[in-house]
Amino acid sequence: MSDRVEDFINSNAGKKILGALGISTPTELSRDSASANYFSGSLLLGASENAQLTSSIEAVLGQSNGNIVSAPAELLNTPKSDSDVLGDARYDALVFDGSGFKDATELVQAYRFFNGAIRKLNRNGRVVILGRPHRQTDSAEAAASQRALEGLSRSLGKEVGGKGATAQLITVEQGAEANLSSALRFVLSPRSAFVSGQVIRVENAKATADSNWEKPLENKVALVTGASRGIGQAIAETLARQGATVLGIDVPPMEAELNSVMAAINGKALVADITAADAPAKISETLKEMGGVDLVVHNAGVTRDKTIANMNEQWWQMTLDINLAAAQRINRALLETGALNDGGSIVGVSSMNGIGGQRGQTNYAASKAGVIGYVDTMSQDPALKAKGITVNAVAPGFIETAMTAAIPFFTRMVGRRLNSLSQGGQPVDVAETIAFFGYPESRGVNGNIVRVCGQNWLGA
Ligand code: NAD
Repeated sequence: MSDRVEDFINSNAGKKILGALGISTPTELSRDSASANYFSGSLLLGASENAQLTSSIEAVLGQSNGNIVSAPAELLNTPKSDSDVLGDARYDALVFDGSGFKDATELVQAYRFFNGAIRKLNRNGRVVILGRPHRQTDSAEAAASQRALEGLSRSLGKEVGGKGATAQLITVEQGAEANLSSALRFVLSPRSAFVSGQVIRVENAKATADSNWEKPLENKVALVTGASRGIGQAIAETLARQGATVLGIDVPPMEAELNSVMAAINGKALVADITAADAPAKISETLKEMGGVDLVVHNAGVTRDKTIANMNEQWWQMTLDINLAAAQRINRALLETGALNDGGSIVGVSSMNGIGGQRGQTNYAASKAGVIGYVDTMSQDPALKAKGITVNAVAPGFIETAMTAAIPFFTRMVGRRLNSLSQGGQPVDVAETIAFFGYPESRGVNGNIVRVCGQNWLGA
């Protein structure tokens, strides 16, 4: 019954009825179809006065197959007139360097750029604003102007989401210009199809030349827990497609599924419960035999939902142990045994519900918020930084998996539409974001929590 209702909703008649009720129907997102380059459309590039990042942006864009057009001075510097400066031009991406803003009144240049250009953005387009972290500016006024870019980009995400387009802000620390490439390439590419309204921070790190776009994870070893189905399966498949050798882990009842997923990607299967006392040692040993691990993905997770008054202690403890404590024990073992290679990445899987909270999920939300606190602190550990090891997390929103298929139909139908793109995400969307953290050139992408949620309306 439910599939038939969904089919009706997506039919022309259904769209008309929902449209009359103010509920928009989604634009199909274009995802990566093994493209050889990250961007090949047309792109309009604008910059504020005294912008500091433009030459770094141009260097990255120069490696694309795109047609890069600089915004005419008239668009940015003359008060808005009704004349249409850009004429009939259409763009697949609008990129604006706002790093030069030091005063609130200067922001009008960003207004002029987007006021003139936003209608020219194609379906599945990209809006990218670049700025500086507001805490690292030299005056409170400059901090305000830089932080203003966050509100601007998030609002633009809500305005362009109906056409399947996304908007993000990338902030680049002073001196981290050479680390910009991986974030800019990712947000312009179809690999970020379900990521919108995010702020990606790029910090100072040893810069590495860009890897091959098709196989950025060539010669890398990745660990994926909970790899036999759902998001974990997509992570394993995506990392393997991008060149990694994967060690997949899952519990004994999932052995057959795990073996078949790993066989299909030439990976290695390890049947283990990550909460078992001997699991950290077993995992470290296996990874050392594989030459050490470069990308560690703590994906295994469970929900055990009840309001707190009705929840027994076992459900509380089990959820916290699988979703949070087990990953910490494994990380400790990987670091102590030297199984985690220098230049490696640790990735946690948080959740929108860990940010916004959810009735009946005190245990789950506590564990997923814990992932964020853990990443915040681990990512700033000087010993890890010295080894070029990054620590980040994804926070998925509504992703179409067995976990969300179990949600009652009407709640599910509404839940998947409560975001700027009016649809649920696919497991591959989460996987692509995790892979991006693992690219060799992503060493400056550290301590980030990137929501993969189509700019979900819930949460902070
Ligand atoms: P899923 O239930 O389909 O898959 C989870 C996998 O983890 C399963 O294969 C399971 O057997 C494995 N696992 C559970 N306990 C384990 C243990 N102790 N040891 C080893 N493996 C274990 O779930 P999913 O929807 O694919 O979610 C994957 C991750 O993404 C989870 O951490 C989940 O909390 C998170 N997440 C999912 C969504 C969503 O919309 N589906 C949203 C936010 C976050």
